[in-house]
Amino acid sequence: MQYELSYWERESFFKDIDVAVIGSGIVGLAAAIHLKTLDPKLSVAILERGTLPIGASTRNAGFSCFGSMTELLDDLNHASEDQVLAVVEKRWRGLQRLRELVGDENLDFQMLGGYEMFTHEEESIFRECQERMPEFNQKIGKITGWTEGYKVVDERLPGFGFQGVRHLILNQPEGQVHTGKMMSALLHCALDTGVKIYNGFVIKHLEDTSQGVEIETEFGWTLRVPKVLVAVNGFARRLLSMEEVQPARNQVLITHPIPDLRVEGCFHYDRGYFYFRNIDGRILLGGGRNLDLEREKTDEFGANELIRKALIELLETVICPGQRVEIDSWWTGILGLGPIKKPIVEKVSPNVTVAVRLSGMGVAIGTLVGQEGAELVISV
Ligand SMILES: Cc1cc2nc3c(=O)[nH]c(=O)nc-3n(C[C@H](O)[C@H](O)[C@H](O)COP(=O)(O)OP(=O)(O)OC[C@H]3O[C@@H](n4cnc5c(N)ncnc54)[C@H](O)[C@@H]3O)c2cc1C
Repeated sequence: MQYELSYWERESFFKDIDVAVIGSGIVGLAAAIHLKTLDPKLSVAILERGTLPIGASTRNAGFSCFGSMTELLDDLNHASEDQVLAVVEKRWRGLQRLRELVGDENLDFQMLGGYEMFTHEEESIFRECQERMPEFNQKIGKITGWTEGYKVVDERLPGFGFQGVRHLILNQPEGQVHTGKMMSALLHCALDTGVKIYNGFVIKHLEDTSQGVEIETEFGWTLRVPKVLVAVNGFARRLLSMEEVQPARNQVLITHPIPDLRVEGCFHYDRGYFYFRNIDGRILLGGGRNLDLEREKTDEFGANELIRKALIELLETVICPGQRVEIDSWWTGILGLGPIKKPIVEKVSPNVTVAVRLSGMGVAIGTLVGQEGAELVISV
């Protein structure tokens, strides 16, 4: 839709904005709140293309995870130990910031633990995890304060009723949040601090000029503001041509309530490519991107039938074998990935800062990344 901005709209809504934050996911909201905390006089506006945030933050699984063992072992193949531990520390600190900002009750935060599942075919990777567990407990324990964060809990397998699973490694300090409550609380917090939020605001292009940043909208008109923080995560390639951010789609399902559900906690299957948890007596299950990697390298929402079939099979044969389970609904979300698991927080031009590429860890790390982005925006 193309239209001109009226005098009233321009003067009353978009005049004198000091910082425009693009994107109202966890990062954009945390950044905007932090900007107002650092300087309450700043006029901060969030420009969001969706009626709600529509990327990853309202569509994720709500694991407050900072690294299961196979995930960290894999990360060590792509980055140095110091780099991997630095990201774990950021995830852990970020989670504490989120909990301070929103409050455990508003997040529905529960530390029920995260379980990594190993099948018969995964015996050798399980053995490797087991061998390295004392070392991991010592190194990660320095960050979390948990001396025995990871432990083998095969004795819990019969209680969960899984089929074809041979081993379980529990990550005790891993928790879960209610994603919808978290985002709703963050939105309210932003509004309470005086942040303005404009929805349906699709940005096409940014131009950093000597007079400020020109924000070109899809509607044919342009705004000019002194500073911009871009928090569009998986859409950074589309908006800023940032090749270092790879969009990746994830398929998710939720079941109807299951009588006497035995699953409690967060579960990582097939090295974390699949994940599931309990919520409101139901199972939320997602992932499987590895089954059709190329097709899922997209920032468009939409079903992938091959992956959906695999998710149903996993649900029926491994997670709830022999139980009557009905699917309530499906959705998709868009991640922003990179060759290494490290968010990008940097200035791409004097007045444009980006805080993007949160991978599958934005619940834990997003608040901290937003706050770092905010500090960079107002740094000289
Ligand atoms: C299915 C799924 C499951 C996940 N599970 C977990 C999990 O359990 N634990 C975990 O820690 N992480 C998980 N993640 C990752 C986590 O959700 C993300 O890392 C985090 O939400 C990223 O937040 P963000 O604010 O950077 O981006 P987003 O939430 O994607 O927000 C970006 C916003 O920018 C807006 N935008 C984009 N382009 C424009 C434009 N041109 N103009 C205006 N606005 C624009 C979008 O509409 C969107 O609202 C999951 C992700 C998905 C998709």
